[in-house]
Amino acid sequence: MRLVITDLDGTLLDHDTYSFAEAQPALDLLSRLGVPVIFASSKTRAEILMWRRLMDNRHPFISENGGAVFYPPGYFPDGPEADIFGDPYPELVRALEEASEESGCPVTGFARMSVQDVARECGMTPAMARLARQRECDEPFLAHDQDRLDALLSAIASRGKRYTRGGRFHHITGKHDKAAAVRKLLERFRVVAPDVVAIGLGDGLNDAQFLNAVDIPILIRSASTEKLKAAVPRGSVTRETGPRGWREAILELFVQT
Ligand SMILES: [Mg+2]
Repeated sequence: MRLVITDLDGTLLDHDTYSFAEAQPALDLLSRLGVPVIFASSKTRAEILMWRRLMDNRHPFISENGGAVFYPPGYFPDGPEADIFGDPYPELVRALEEASEESGCPVTGFARMSVQDVARECGMTPAMARLARQRECDEPFLAHDQDRLDALLSAIASRGKRYTRGGRFHHITGKHDKAAAVRKLLERFRVVAPDVVAIGLGDGLNDAQFLNAVDIPILIRSASTEKLKAAVPRGSVTRETGPRGWREAILELFVQT
């Protein structure tokens, strides 16, 4: 059994417009073949629930860079509703503010941004921004002094927190990542389907670890491709970017087989 685990922003969704229209033929194909498509994103549970509805997706998903895996009721026999890996959100917000003060690197996290600020920074509608602000275990932030960024990162690490870089924001999280969440999810799939083959698609450096944890890693072309390829040497790189690249990769893998 094959399954697809995919990043959203810059991968299945266009980096600028958030459209997945170009990937629709590939999504339709996977749905006809009964291949589960699992979203693994830095987005919140509230946002991913919206995208799942828009794409008519009924599968488990990974939110906030691996902070949690959520399962639809009854998806796995006797399975839990969720596997939670992340640290509580208020703890992250506090750690970021302390690290900012200690390093002298001014930051602006989502907690201090209004719905309008988030909408503007992310090019989202206010309704989408409202969902994006419902954080549970990952705080995205902007850093305003590039010279002090290294000091900020050390101050984050010294508080036992982790740092990742997404397409638009820096992120502070607990000691979780997409890879651990993907491994847990694959473990649950293997109980019901021991022959599972996982195909992973991502475009950013925060996808590197999870792409190394799947059987077939695919790197969607982006500004980060060179660095990502160095981190995921097994990965094949698409010619196209975003949802066009997604379609290209899925059609190549699934059409002739
Ligand atoms: Mg991405």
